[in-house]
Amino acid sequence: MALQEEHAVNRAIQYSTPGTTETCITELPIGKPGPGEVLVRMLYSGICHTDYAACTGTLGRAPPVPAGQIGGHEGIGEVIEQGPGVTKPVIGSKVGIKWAAEVCINCDNCLMGAESECTSLKVSGFYHPGTFQQYLITSAVCATPIPEGIDLAGAAPLMCAGTTVYASLKRAHTKAGDWVLITGAGGGLGHLAIQYTKAMGGSVIAMDIGSKEAFCKELGADYFIDFKKFGTNEEVIAHVKTLVPGGVRVVLCCAGSNKAYEQAPGFLAPRGTLVCVGIPVHEGKPGERVPLFDLSSIVANELNIIGIKSGSRQEAKECLDIAAKGLVKTHYQLRPMDTLTKSFIEMEDGNVNGRIVLDLR
Ligand SMILES: [Zn+2]
Ligand SMILES: [Zn+2]
Repeated sequence: MALQEEHAVNRAIQYSTPGTTETCITELPIGKPGPGEVLVRMLYSGICHTDYAACTGTLGRAPPVPAGQIGGHEGIGEVIEQGPGVTKPVIGSKVGIKWAAEVCINCDNCLMGAESECTSLKVSGFYHPGTFQQYLITSAVCATPIPEGIDLAGAAPLMCAGTTVYASLKRAHTKAGDWVLITGAGGGLGHLAIQYTKAMGGSVIAMDIGSKEAFCKELGADYFIDFKKFGTNEEVIAHVKTLVPGGVRVVLCCAGSNKAYEQAPGFLAPRGTLVCVGIPVHEGKPGERVPLFDLSSIVANELNIIGIKSGSRQEAKECLDIAAKGLVKTHYQLRPMDTLTKSFIEMEDGNVNGRIVLDLR
């Protein structure tokens, strides 16, 4: 398909000085999709904390990205060209690009659904060009089909934040009637986790800073806890036990905070599950990032601890299907492409309700 002349270049946002929040917009040529690939005209991309961490070099123990890296891993676009041999997705269809942008689907990890652990994994926006650009070439088999009728800008954050929290609740075996405590509940991940828990029939204790109380309750949180109101870990744990005396079934730690992880085992009912999603980056000295788990609670109550960084193709599909039924709504602010650095700086303070989405059109 011929490209419109005004779209003859690909405007892309690059991390100009990794280790800082600096970014720049560059004009690049538009590539041709090869066998098994499609060319996607990108429409929207959410901004995830992992993008911030990749740009600023604070992504756990991961090496810093090279200058010029195009970030982003929760994008939505339209297929405009198929590579040789590709029949699906069809031209004109909307697709999503997620963190695990390319997987082999055949290695041992892929076969058990752990596609984020694929031995030939290519990660969108991390040593592989991401979704912060107007045109993107991606694997046809890994592009996520987007259901009809869904708000496309709102669907972008579902490709990472939504899929990750949905996968977290599913892998923690959350059932109708279960209590789930969510830390960082008013953020990009947390605000979706509240809604997915409710859609799955669970009840929610939302924990965040006090200014997010009304937002979390509007989304369906049954209780809200302003963690700053409590002096010690024991006080906040005791408060949770007054709300749900036996403890909660699942703690979904979206907050990247050591404090949240120190407290989490104390919130849980016996055989409950702690899901680790947020990675602490701003606390402790280098080498002291490992949270101080309450090991005696973990043993005494036979708790489970799982870590989740992203979801599989199937989990992404299920996550989108729930949203397409109207059970989950992303709260986002749509911003122009040149606001990525400004957005990163705002995200540092943790004051953004929901998600920031870049308009790439
Ligand atoms: Zn992400
Ligand atoms: Zn694989």
